[in-house]
Amino acid sequence: MSNNKYKILIIEDEKHINNLLETLLQTNGYKVISAENCAGGKMLFSSHNPDLVILDLGLPDADGMTFLKDIRKDFHTPVIVLSARTDEKDKVLALDFGANDYITKPFGAAEFLARVRSTLRNSRIHADSLDYSEEKFVSGGLLIDYDARRVFVDGGEVKLTQTEYNIITTLSRHPGKVMTYTAIIRAIWGYNDLNSTKKLQVNMANIRKKFGAKPGKPNYIENELGVGYRMCERDD
Ligand code: CA
Repeated sequence: MSNNKYKILIIEDEKHINNLLETLLQTNGYKVISAENCAGGKMLFSSHNPDLVILDLGLPDADGMTFLKDIRKDFHTPVIVLSARTDEKDKVLALDFGANDYITKPFGAAEFLARVRSTLRNSRIHADSLDYSEEKFVSGGLLIDYDARRVFVDGGEVKLTQTEYNIITTLSRHPGKVMTYTAIIRAIWGYNDLNSTKKLQVNMANIRKKFGAKPGKPNYIENELGVGYRMCERDD
């Protein structure tokens, strides 16, 4: 599918970042509209109905979170939040308020474009509700066979506990997207208590060990420190 149909709204007050993103996206075939504050962003959002919003949280007239909460009352339009390296709490809050992903400043062009692609793809999959119809998840050497409830790495079966398998499956239903600790915990245990995050981290450590995670080997699940976990993209 061509990128040409996608219209992206950038809301970012730092002129050089705004210009950089606009050029980058246009070069890659996206239509771009941009605003430098929350009010301008809201105006463009309602007049242009974009396919994706790139939202800076620190805006001059209002917090970017206000924009997010506002549009989430009526729209499912995917939103990628831009945030500074140290703002783990803001990232979690933004994700819990319905942001689809975030990207940390400073970031590279390739990483940014990959995030845009995967967010657009995920939102399309969810719109078509094809997400649970797949029988297998394949990414590099990782294979999850949902029907048989079996997991393989480089052709060898990995024996997972029920909980470990549920975690892997939950993450693999959202490939390329970060899931917050809270979102994963709710999906696995249905409730959140003081020990949940610790419990999740222990399970993740065991999964990594069983996957044979080593430096220099492909890491199928990225640890987003203080925020959550991100499953690798599936092979097309
Ligand atoms: Ca800013």
